[in-house]
Amino acid sequence: MASPTAFITGITGQDGSYLTELLLARGYVVHGLVRRASLFNRSRIEHLRLDPAIGGKTLFLHYGDLNDTTSLRRLFRRIRPGEVYHFAGQSHVGLSFEIPEATCHEVGHGTLGLLELLRDQEHPVRFYHASSSEVFGAPATAPQNEDTPLRPTSPYGCAKAFATNLCRVYREAYGLFICNGIAYNHESPRRGENFVTRKISLAAARIARGRQHELVLGQLDAARDWGYAPEFVEGMWHALQRQEPDDYVFATGESHTLAEFIDAAFATVGLDWRRYVQFDARYVRPIEPVRLVGDAAKAHRLLGWTPRTKMADLARLMVQADLALLDGAEPAR
Ligand code: NAP
Ligand code: GDP
Repeated sequence: MASPTAFITGITGQDGSYLTELLLARGYVVHGLVRRASLFNRSRIEHLRLDPAIGGKTLFLHYGDLNDTTSLRRLFRRIRPGEVYHFAGQSHVGLSFEIPEATCHEVGHGTLGLLELLRDQEHPVRFYHASSSEVFGAPATAPQNEDTPLRPTSPYGCAKAFATNLCRVYREAYGLFICNGIAYNHESPRRGENFVTRKISLAAARIARGRQHELVLGQLDAARDWGYAPEFVEGMWHALQRQEPDDYVFATGESHTLAEFIDAAFATVGLDWRRYVQFDARYVRPIEPVRLVGDAAKAHRLLGWTPRTKMADLARLMVQADLALLDGAEPAR
């Protein structure tokens, strides 16, 4: 039997890299969209690409861009993917206040372009859309589930809400197999360095090694439902294996403040974070979401999905990975 074929937009990102490993382990042929950058942006999947048993055999990278629907159309025709995982787009909430047009264009319009492509496919395609807890923004209830009304509080959240609703409309209107995964924050040693958990884990490791002396942050009372990215991509894959398409919340169901995360991270290296953390209003956002904590009961019931890693373990494993990175060990996989 032919191997299943998947196409991933955002394959070079945190989730794209973990999902690629999961799919390859399950016998898929994986195609990924890579955009041109002045420096190579493939560090998270380089170990796969350079593996002679994988690169060019079961893993293929293609230049393209979400904004270039002609090249995407050509790729769809050539690859004929059975599953599409759509992760690409500007993913930083804070930055979305500074570059709202680019964010909305990529996250909102970029998704619409893919949905239109999906309509034109002659063979059945299953589509996963990486929605976000930011669509809830300031919800009236906590925890949130798939039926909680969308009330975003950032340009990023607005764009994800637009894309999430479009996915629902295209599913209903055209009978397409489209799933929204409404994911709460998920982190890992591969998280981008300008997200707060990674900024903290790197700082704890660098301070412990005498290579940094302070950690400058914004609001410490901000709270998030933080999970572990490799576990979240398992749920995403399961979503596309069901008989019917649906929407799922992926979350741990626990909310922790930034101060608690910092405490757990610095405890890993035996340091008192209060001696190092400084405040800078530059990192305070015009609006913060409130009470974001997810109810993943539906994903548990229908997909058998359960997150295993709790916040303190997540902080510890991220700091340990950054220590290994600083000490010259191989990057954590
Ligand atoms: P990430 O690490 O920032 O990765 C984003 C990916 O999108 C990268 O591969 C990036 O390419 C690519 N990309 C950005 N703009 C593009 C464009 N115009 N054309 C083609 N590719 C483009 O994000 P992530 O953490 O893996 O998250 C994956 C998705 O889930 C994102 O849509 C994010 O918004 C969403 N999400 C994430 C979380 C979370 O906690 N991680 C929670 C909810 C939802 P480069 O490598 O070239 O930059
Ligand atoms: P987000 O939930 O996708 O916005 O993930 P981030 O990791 O970017 O931010 C999580 C929370 O940490 C937000 O409430 C930020 O306001 C707060 N925060 C405080 N200081 C910082 C900082 O220096 N960088 C970032 N990225 N966030 C910070």
